[in-house]
Amino acid sequence: MIELRTPAQIEQMRPAGRFVAEVLTRLSEAADVGVNLLDLDRLAHDMIRERGAESCYIDYHPSFGAMPFGHVLCTSVNDAVLHGLPHDYTLRDGDLVSLDFAASVDGWVSDSAVSMVVGTPREQDLRLIAVAEDALAAGIGAAQVGNRLGDISFAIGNVAREHGLGINLQFGGHGVGRTMHGDPHVSNDGRPHRGFPLKPGLVIAIEPWFLQTTDEIYIDSDGWTIKSADGSRGAHAEHTIAITEDGPVILTARA
Ligand code: MG
Repeated sequence: MIELRTPAQIEQMRPAGRFVAEVLTRLSEAADVGVNLLDLDRLAHDMIRERGAESCYIDYHPSFGAMPFGHVLCTSVNDAVLHGLPHDYTLRDGDLVSLDFAASVDGWVSDSAVSMVVGTPREQDLRLIAVAEDALAAGIGAAQVGNRLGDISFAIGNVAREHGLGINLQFGGHGVGRTMHGDPHVSNDGRPHRGFPLKPGLVIAIEPWFLQTTDEIYIDSDGWTIKSADGSRGAHAEHTIAITEDGPVILTARA
């Protein structure tokens, strides 16, 4: 069921969005060559405790997960692109890292992700990250009252196609509210003018993710981490947004 939030509820959702943005900003600063993924997870956990927030991930156990996630942050490195389970890995020069973080503050969830390269970047990695960011911006740009859900999906898919990237549709965006994953599913490709009419009060996470040379994935033996089938690298970008009469509001905007 698709739920719409009142303007007052959207205001109540802002602290969660701000907190998630703060955590990702802090983690992006901390992520560097020589830093362990478990340290990034610990840092996020400390910030959750200090803020009195609640993790959306730690007890998360959907049908596709082998066990409860057990961490508060997704750390996807290089050929990992989604749901990366933090593990004892020290970041190396040139690693492409995606950090995905969701938390609940005052009973409302926000969800956001950012990708970056630590150390010396490869040109093609920066390009892939830029395409994911551009696709996110295009999706947000299409999140206008009067459009339909398919317009967001189409806008995302178009950016990928322009860059010759394949699009895997197994994971995409979602409604956000009291819990992390609600209706509607926000596909990363679709047909324009189709689907649910976008209305004021719809709060969704939009999250394009792409792989360099494939659209096929597999789940790592850790039971969680989604990796590219051919070992090529992936990038992921995500914001939680509220659709309003005045246009989309990015709740997880970073300063
Ligand atoms: Mg997320």
